[in-house]
Formats: sequence, C-alpha cells, structure tokens
Amino acid sequence: MKILIGQFSHESNSYCEHLTTEADFAAMGLRRGATIIERHRGKKTVLGGFIEVLEDGEHEILPVVSASTLPSGPVEAGFYHGIKSEFVAAARANPDIDAILLSLHGAMSVEESAGVLDPEGELIAALRAEVGASVPILAVYDPHSDTTQLQLDNADLTISYNEEPHRDAYERGLEVARRMFEVKAGAINPVSVRERAPMLLPAINMASDQGPMVALHELREELERTPGVIDISIHMGFYGTNSPSQGFSVVCTTDGEPELAERLAKQVAAAAWEKRREFIVELTSIDDAVKQALAADEPIGLIDEADDPAGGGSADSVAILRGMIANGVSAGGVSTIKDTEVARQMAAAGVGAELEVSLGAKTDSLHGDPITLRGAVRLIHRDPIPMDKWTGTTHDVGLIGVLDVDGILVAVTERKVVTENIDLFEILGFDVTAMQMAVFKGLGLHIRQALEGKIATFIPVDAVGVTHPDVRQLGAFEHVPRPVYPLDEMPDDAYP
Ligand SMILES: [Zn+2]
Repeated sequence: MKILIGQFSHESNSYCEHLTTEADFAAMGLRRGATIIERHRGKKTVLGGFIEVLEDGEHEILPVVSASTLPSGPVEAGFYHGIKSEFVAAARANPDIDAILLSLHGAMSVEESAGVLDPEGELIAALRAEVGASVPILAVYDPHSDTTQLQLDNADLTISYNEEPHRDAYERGLEVARRMFEVKAGAINPVSVRERAPMLLPAINMASDQGPMVALHELREELERTPGVIDISIHMGFYGTNSPSQGFSVVCTTDGEPELAERLAKQVAAAAWEKRREFIVELTSIDDAVKQALAADEPIGLIDEADDPAGGGSADSVAILRGMIANGVSAGGVSTIKDTEVARQMAAAGVGAELEVSLGAKTDSLHGDPITLRGAVRLIHRDPIPMDKWTGTTHDVGLIGVLDVDGILVAVTERKVVTENIDLFEILGFDVTAMQMAVFKGLGLHIRQALEGKIATFIPVDAVGVTHPDVRQLGAFEHVPRPVYPLDEMPDDAYP
C-alpha cells in the first residue's frame, strides 16, 4: 500500500503576542520528503511509530511535510495555508494513495484576521474533499487539544496520547498506523462522539500518574475494555486557546455503535467535571517561596508555570530571579532566561568575563520588566541538548551561557527553549543538589520527573506570564462557550 504521512502540529496561545511564522517552524526543523523519515525512523515519536509499522509491512511511504515548533502565538495565515496546500497537492499528485496518517496537536490557532476557526479541521476536511471517502484518514493528537465535529466528521479515527508527560506518542503512532489497516480492510467501522465538559483548566495538575487525572485514566482504561470500544481519548483542552472549540472534551470511538460512544464519552466527561476543583493548584508568592526555600534544609525547586515556554510563555520573565536576588540567595539556579542579545554578549566576552547586562523581558509586554545585574560568564554551551528523556531526539537551541550572579547560576539562552523534561544543569555540568533553590520554567509535573532523585520539594510560584495557571488572569476568552469553569461561577449541577 502507499501511505501519505505528515505532521502539522502547533499549540497556539491566543494571548501570546508573538505570531508564529515559517521561521519559527524552520528553527525547529521544518522537513519535507525523505528527510522526515531520516529524522523520525527509530525515534519514539508519532511519526517514528507510523514509519515503523509501515516499513515493517514493506509499504510505500509518501512523506509530505513535517512542521512543528514550540508553543507560541497564533500561526501566520500564509504559512498555515501553504502547509495545508502542500498536503492537498501531494494527495492530488498521488491519486493511488491508500491512506493518510497525520500527527497533529489539536490546539492550533491561525491569526484571527484570517477567519480560520478550526485549522486542523479545515486541513482534514480539505484532504477528505481531495481523496474521497475510500481513503482512510487517521490522526494522532496531543491531549492538550480541543477537538471539533469537523475533525471527527472528516477523519476515520483520531486518538490522543494518554500520558502526561507525553511519553506514549510513539505507541499512539503505532496504534493508529495499525488501526489504519483495519479501517482500510473494512474490519472496523469507527464511529466517534465528542462530549465537552464546560471546563477551561490550567495544565498545572494534569499528570497522568498523579493528581485528578489518575482516576480518570483508570476509568478510561476500564471503559476501553467494553466490547465494541475502539478508543477513548481525553482531550484536556489547551488553556491558552480563545476559540469556540475550547474545552475539556472526551472522544469515544466505537465500532459502529454511536449510542455506546455517546454514553461512555459522557461518563468520562462527567467524572472529570466532578474533579474540576482538584485541577486548580494553590500558588505561593515569589517572596514567600524564596523565603521558604532559604529556610529549608534541602534544595527546593521553584516552578515558574506562568512563563512556560511549552505553553507559549516567552521564557524571559525574570520575576523570580529578581526575588532571589532581593532575598540574598547565594547558591541558586535559573533554567532558563531567553535573551538573544545577552547570550551573544556573553559568548563574545568569553568565559571568565564580568558583564553588566539588562536581562530578560524583551519579547513582549506580558512577562514583566528586565533586570539590570552584574555577573561572570561561567560557561558557553553550543551543542544541541536532548528534548526529553524518552524520544531520543535533540534540539539545537543555539548558545546557552551560564551567568554567575553572586552564586545564582542563570542559564541564558539565545533561543526560546523548553527544558522541563531534562536536567539542564546536569547537561551543563552543574549540580542542582548543591543549590538552595533552582527555578524551572514549565509544568511542575514534568520538572518533578526530570529532577527525580535530586530535588524532592517543589513550590508552584505565583509569577508573571501568558501561561499563568490562574486562567482568569490570561484574558477575556470571549470566543469560548460560556459559562465555563473556572472563569464563571457554576453550581455543581450545571453539568452534565
Ligand atoms: Zn501536550
């Protein structure tokens, strides 16, 4: 068989000022044709899973385009339409394809003026219009996603990862590729029903192995064993999306049984509604968090979820660093501050040089103010760093300079970089266990895992940025169906 594969994946934060352009995708590896297979073969990614199944069966793979980049603002319209056209053109030029496998995110937005309300849905619908009903289209989604009826109507099967952190992307790629053969052969007839619970939840407490999601995944697994069920996917929503599709939703797919799909999707969504308050985590002020860490007799992790580069944060808020300096911290770390200018200044000055710099808060007006400080350049790192501990992929982040500010080691990066799934300090040759406290930008659930065995206590800090875990601070969410928890007061019986 001949299978078209590709990836178009972005988590777009409506409240991030930075428009996501082709240059942003290119910086993370915008690939076309055979280079996609070279990049993903043997890797624990969605495409790696597709490729493994298809190559094992000696099928012909038609790799079209692979475009993904760090979460940031909405995608520039011209780029979106260009990638969509590439997929459609490839399908048109290859009328002999037997199926289409896609790796999507499910939380993409396109710049508002373009009027593209459902980018993934319009992509899938355009492919469906091109290939007709006989060519199966299947897609894997990130669970921080908002599905739509347009997507479900035009795809044969969509499933999301189950794990957060997303360690099962590859397994879901394998699963969808295998399901494709069953759909193609007519062995299954997937019917999907989406149920939305009126919740717009922060990502702060969505780990699949602790907190409220544990019981929901247990329920999902139990219900997935019901005869006739093909998949249940929990789309937890992306809290930075100001769109009509936003919301915590559950998609249940059965083998030709819509009533069963509806009943089970509702059951999981209702169970999530019951737990809605558990998704909200109490935050500690910067000053209190730093003081608590100074008083502790163990290294403390300070979690900066408000400026999470994996959610659209600019990764250049220095709010917590300012609090550390004000409280006289003498052994600390900050991972990371994106400041292109300062990283280059540090590289030019060289290791050992003393510099006075204005650091951080240069990307937009939503991440506080820069801080002026003096520091010594301890290290300049130029090699790619691992993306995480499981996919086997690396990421060229440009320069990383370590600035020693009276004992606080600040990792300054030339580009925005996500480090929540790794111990960047270890990669750079520093030991977090020797620090009184270290700041990490990202979600605590990822960071906790990355620092396992080194830091036991983490404090979620009330800081500054477009990924603030109190979603009420992000914006008006005027396109989101209301009422929605926790933006609106809602009685317990408001849902289901
Ligand atoms: Zn995600």
